[in-house]
Amino acid sequence: MRIIHIAAEFAPIAKAGGRGEVVTGLCRQLSLQHEEVEIIIPKYGFIPDHLLQNLTKEKFEFPCLEASRFHANTMWSAKVENCQLHLLETDHPSGYFQRPQIYGYPDDLAKFLYFSKAALEYLKLRGEKIDILHLHEWHTALCAPLVKEEMAQQLQVRSVIFTIHNLEYQGKCVPKDLDSLGIPGKKYLQPSRLLDNVHADTLNLLKGAIVYSDAITTVSPTYAQEILTPHFGCHLQQTLLQNKQKLQGILNGIDQKLWDPSKDPSIKAHFSADDSLMQIEQAKTANKMVLAKKFGLDMAKRPWIGAVTRLVPQKGPELLEEALHYTIQSEGVFLLLGSSPIDSIQEHFEALKKRYKDHPQVLIQLDYDEPLAHQIYAALDFTLIPSHFEPCGLTQLISMRYGTIPIVRSTGGLKDTVLDYDDYKVPNASRNGFTFSNPKELQAVLQRAFALQKKDLDSFHSLMKRAMQRDSSWKKPAAAYRQLYLTHVPEARQPLYSI
Ligand code: ADP
Repeated sequence: MRIIHIAAEFAPIAKAGGRGEVVTGLCRQLSLQHEEVEIIIPKYGFIPDHLLQNLTKEKFEFPCLEASRFHANTMWSAKVENCQLHLLETDHPSGYFQRPQIYGYPDDLAKFLYFSKAALEYLKLRGEKIDILHLHEWHTALCAPLVKEEMAQQLQVRSVIFTIHNLEYQGKCVPKDLDSLGIPGKKYLQPSRLLDNVHADTLNLLKGAIVYSDAITTVSPTYAQEILTPHFGCHLQQTLLQNKQKLQGILNGIDQKLWDPSKDPSIKAHFSADDSLMQIEQAKTANKMVLAKKFGLDMAKRPWIGAVTRLVPQKGPELLEEALHYTIQSEGVFLLLGSSPIDSIQEHFEALKKRYKDHPQVLIQLDYDEPLAHQIYAALDFTLIPSHFEPCGLTQLISMRYGTIPIVRSTGGLKDTVLDYDDYKVPNASRNGFTFSNPKELQAVLQRAFALQKKDLDSFHSLMKRAMQRDSSWKKPAAAYRQLYLTHVPEARQPLYSI
């Protein structure tokens, strides 16, 4: 099968959150299963060339129209994480990809519309048959209607698969934004096409991908159900219900190489699920010591609990703050590594940081810091994920691999991956954390979790071991995606490789 992914992110070279990790994890596992996988992303100026193995300019240089002008584009190819990458460089005067970050600019919409169109122009030039075109998020959603309508004659794409990583972000624009790219925008202003379900005269890119793709996936089975309801559907539940037969939830995995406490270069003391509980405990204590020294935290206090997260309403920042206060009262240490694209939230947490400056039980770091994230996962006893909704969530999976017990709101992928220590309806061996449903239950769940560590260390340790043993690799998810691809390209079915 020839499989081409188009995405805005690819970890670790271009990652802003979970979705970049997912694209990489899935593509790498599919490559290991001997599938021909290629990924198209923008050639961001912040990616140093030395991270791109065998970087070469492809023979394709091609124009792409925007605002009555043609702009020149060049495609580069490189290997990253064993995957074949194509990186789109453009001489567009706005310097779309020449910024320090992937998102957060007023022209993000125009930038990703341009990227989507240019990526397809490139595939058109290549002129090859593509079995699966796999798109991710609103950033590349425009490709679905373009493949099916505008470029249907010029591209040979068997099937378009679209993955919703988070339904909240939909990408809305007006017809003239498409006109600008030479696409008749008004044509799509219809309920059965891209017309937004709420706002008149508005095009909704995510809706377009739902309507036009041959299959839609989202990143956990529970979220796939939840988004069909008004509470979680972000006004697209009707469109999703109409396309329900195309929708399935496939749980994400995590990158076992990037998140490996036995080899992680960012952490001081290494450990793995095969070690004895004493070795694990010793290593985690040594990792606590590093942070205690660096940030003046109190080594004698327990538990160490924290979160590594984007600070957006979805993630329950008010509940994180409540937990911080509760932890201080409970003689624990609270560590928060987060950053917010929303000024009011960032300012609120800046004030909190100031208030707790030099407090031996609190660390608040308000930036994006990959090595520190690894050090925090390796040091914590508990991680708190109080999301109001969570399509899948990676931080609970990462935490478990680092022997850190997740305490989560039971929603979406959190519900599918974390089973409560006290839930007698599920086998003991499957219980791997603590869960709560209602925000009012936050303190009660923290109390239960903290009490286990304090009063029954043996049981806490067995829970830790169980969490570490969870298989969160990409093997099963990639096999599920491959199965989905095969339903669209049945002749590619071959004797199964060992997966
Ligand atoms: P989302 O994609 O919604 O932000 P996920 O749980 O799916 O949430 O993935 C978050 C990923 O981003 C994890 O790998 C997490 O460690 C990382 N991350 C989030 N915030 C930060 C931060 N401030 N610094 C470093 N890594 C972060």
